[in-house]
Amino acid sequence: MIQIEDMFVAWSEQGGQTNLVTTNKSQLPKSVVASEQESELLALRSLSFETHRATVPELEKLLYKAFPVLDRGFIRVVDYMGDDNAVVQAARVSYGAGTKKLREDRGLIRYLIRHRHTTPFEMCEIKFHVKLPIFVARQWVRHRTANINEYSARYSLLDNEFYVPAPENLATQSSVNRQGRGAVLEGEEAARVINMLREDAIQAHAHYVEMMNDDNDGMVHEDRKGLARELARMNLTLNFYTQWYWKVNLHNLMHFLSLRADKHAQFEIRAYANVMLDIFKQWVPLTYEAFCDYRLGAVEMSAQAFKVVQGLIAGKAVEQSESGLSKREWRELMAIIDRDI
Ligand SMILES: Cc1cc2nc3c(=O)[nH]c(=O)nc-3n(C[C@H](O)[C@H](O)[C@H](O)COP(=O)(O)OP(=O)(O)OC[C@H]3O[C@@H](n4cnc5c(N)ncnc54)[C@H](O)[C@@H]3O)c2cc1C
Repeated sequence: MIQIEDMFVAWSEQGGQTNLVTTNKSQLPKSVVASEQESELLALRSLSFETHRATVPELEKLLYKAFPVLDRGFIRVVDYMGDDNAVVQAARVSYGAGTKKLREDRGLIRYLIRHRHTTPFEMCEIKFHVKLPIFVARQWVRHRTANINEYSARYSLLDNEFYVPAPENLATQSSVNRQGRGAVLEGEEAARVINMLREDAIQAHAHYVEMMNDDNDGMVHEDRKGLARELARMNLTLNFYTQWYWKVNLHNLMHFLSLRADKHAQFEIRAYANVMLDIFKQWVPLTYEAFCDYRLGAVEMSAQAFKVVQGLIAGKAVEQSESGLSKREWRELMAIIDRDI
């Protein structure tokens, strides 16, 4: 039996897959959760409530725990509503349990996802607390179908916490994709970039504090009035960490993950999406399985691409020039079906 007091949950990336693994507290980056917050989380975990509502034992084990993401970020589940059965109950508009044999429930969930019958999934909700760099938050906030409440930098001071990529994630600009990364930067160039990122952020935060004349303990210099927090914050760089609560229903969570756990999404937001995928798996395993099969691992084809595939199966010689596909579409299709061009 794992002692909650001694163990935290972390994520580890293994061959592109992430798994929630238990790890000793001492292995966590120190700044992910401050010690007073850590005590709050432990205090929360010591409480239990009786309820007639459905709960998910596997998710209960993870509730409130902070999963480290990037160098100083985290994600944790604060609350949730519903489970796989809630999806089934809603689909059947049942009075009671609504669920039948596991095989039938699984079949129904898979049918719903396959045919984009989405509203039953809106019956489940999950609420996360996320600490993330501002540039990741800018991408995340584009997902409008969730509820957000962000830490107020008008009201409070932002900590001197900023993201610096690990050396293996410092990449060059991709030559084939304007939104992508190429090879990893190496040697002196990599060291210089990391230094610049760090030094610029440190200086920006020092100026931020100096302009406000406020270091969280009050005025630094009695002879200066200091700039308002809401103005001083504009000096901070996009790699500074912010925090928010993010509540979303299961349908919109799947939409978010289908875009942000995808290989086309930027590594940094994908790091969060990967942890959320693992949480999703613990929460609603049947829905997760169907999502992986019909969304995450599935491919979409245009009518022309489908014709090309039909032609290839029939043993016909199909050429890009006659396919109705652009060169780029053709390349993408050949990559999907693992064919040499
Ligand atoms: C790899 C990648 C690259 C991207 N690059 C860029 C970029 O260069 N520039 C940029 O600006 N954005 C970019 N985006 C953001 C992208 O265009 C979407 O804004 C973002 O992914 C949110 O998707 P969404 O609108 O489907 O999600 P949500 O806002 O959660 O909406 C979910 C669904 O609800 C419906 N919906 C919600 N609001 C409306 C509305 N007002 N009107 C009609 N339907 C609505 C739509 O069907 C939508 O798909 C990128 C996203 C990804 C994943």
